[in-house]
Formats: sequence, structure tokens, C-alpha cells
Amino acid sequence: MLGMVKGLGITLKSMTKKKVTYQYPDQPLKMPERFRGIQHFDPEKCIVCNQCARICPTDCITLTGKKHPDPNKKGKIIDTYDINFEICILCDLCTEVCPTEAIVMTTNYELATYSRDELFKNLEWLHENDQNIRGGS
Ligand code: SF4
Ligand code: SF4
Repeated sequence: MLGMVKGLGITLKSMTKKKVTYQYPDQPLKMPERFRGIQHFDPEKCIVCNQCARICPTDCITLTGKKHPDPNKKGKIIDTYDINFEICILCDLCTEVCPTEAIVMTTNYELATYSRDELFKNLEWLHENDQNIRGGS
């Protein structure tokens, strides 16, 4: 009997404590500012220097450039930009070396899918991933 009362006391005490669990996924978890999440890509800022692809330790960035449509302008503009999230380790190196901040980290982390093919994200997808962009890097 005493044990039951003790147990009930612990239960009642826990009920008034602040919850440490979240109602995920209904209540999304907010990640800290320095969290390394899925990248956002801005094609307007990309100068096709290839530094991100070169430094990537897992070779998961594939990009191609094309001639600038304006004949008076030198250099290339980006044509395709893909990241394979099957092997991206979200190490942050690509964003660190990018001279124009065309590729930046966000604090987004949801990549779960039923198909491995869907882990290939192209330029359009990465561009639209524009929420929770990490600032101050
Ligand atoms: S975060 Fe790391 S592994 Fe992923 S694309 Fe960038 S450099 Fe490659
Ligand atoms: S490092 Fe930046 S500017 Fe250079 S190709 Fe990569 S995304 Fe574009």
C-alpha cells in the first residue's frame, strides 16, 4: 500500500514538471543557429568557380556552367547544380569555401523519403529550400 502511494506521488509530481519531449512531427524542432542543415542554393550568386565541388569530401556535388547569355559579359552562369544527399555528410565545407555565398546552410533537416532517387536534389529544389537560412556564417 505504501509503495502504491509513493508511486502515485511520483506520478503526480512528474505531471506538473515541464515536458522534455516534443510532439514531433506535429511540432517541428527548432535547431540552433549553427546547426548544419540542408543547403540553400542561389543561382544568381553562383560564379561557377567549382570550389564547392572540389572541396566536397564525398564528391556529392555535380555542377555545370554555360556561357553568359549577355555577349558583353565575361564568365559563365550556372546551368545545373545537384547534390546527392545519399552521401552528403552536411560537413559545411562547400558553404565555407563559396566566395559569393551562393551555397549556404539552413537549419532544415528533414530528408526522409521512401526512394533513394529522391535524395538527388537539383538546382530548383535547392533554390526553393529558402526557409531557415543560417545567418552570420
Ligand atoms: S556539406 Fe560537405 S559533403 Fe555535403 S555537399 Fe557540402 S562539402 Fe559535400
Ligand atoms: S563555390 Fe559557390 S560560386 Fe563557386 S561554384 Fe560553388 S556555389 Fe558556385
